Amino acid sequence: MSIPKSVYEQVRQRAQAQCEYCHYPELLSSAPLSIDHIQPQSLGGSDDLDNLALACRRCNERRYNFMTGIDPETGAEVALFNPRQQQWSDHFMWSTDALQILGRTSIGRTTCNRLDLNDERREEPFIQNARQQWTIAGLHPPDSDPRE
Ligand SMILES: [Zn+2]
Repeated sequence: MSIPKSVYEQVRQRAQAQCEYCHYPELLSSAPLSIDHIQPQSLGGSDDLDNLALACRRCNERRYNFMTGIDPETGAEVALFNPRQQQWSDHFMWSTDALQILGRTSIGRTTCNRLDLNDERREEPFIQNARQQWTIAGLHPPDSDPRE
């Protein structure tokens, strides 16, 4: 399946050229960011703009075809963050050192957990090491994102 270039460009601009889940900027990527289907194609999701989000490869692969996850605080099954219906800043913020994305709500916590936005399931928190380097370079965190 391929998304027409004009549609890709609309999704990209709407997202301000950053992953709509972890806010990884295209600027730091050696390849274009990918298109995520909010309702997966395997579950009948369309190629309409309101079903598409810009996502980095990590987030796209980890979201796979999951629509929900488990809130680590309550154990409840909760719908994942939907960038077409919800505001990132309502559900997430950066830790003081900007290395970790923190969930501010059940949806935020569940999405951090399902997409492993801070690489906590890896032996080495690769993404946090990278964010530290981007911070030193003055490229992180995004200006308009809330901080702890
Ligand atoms: Zn991402």
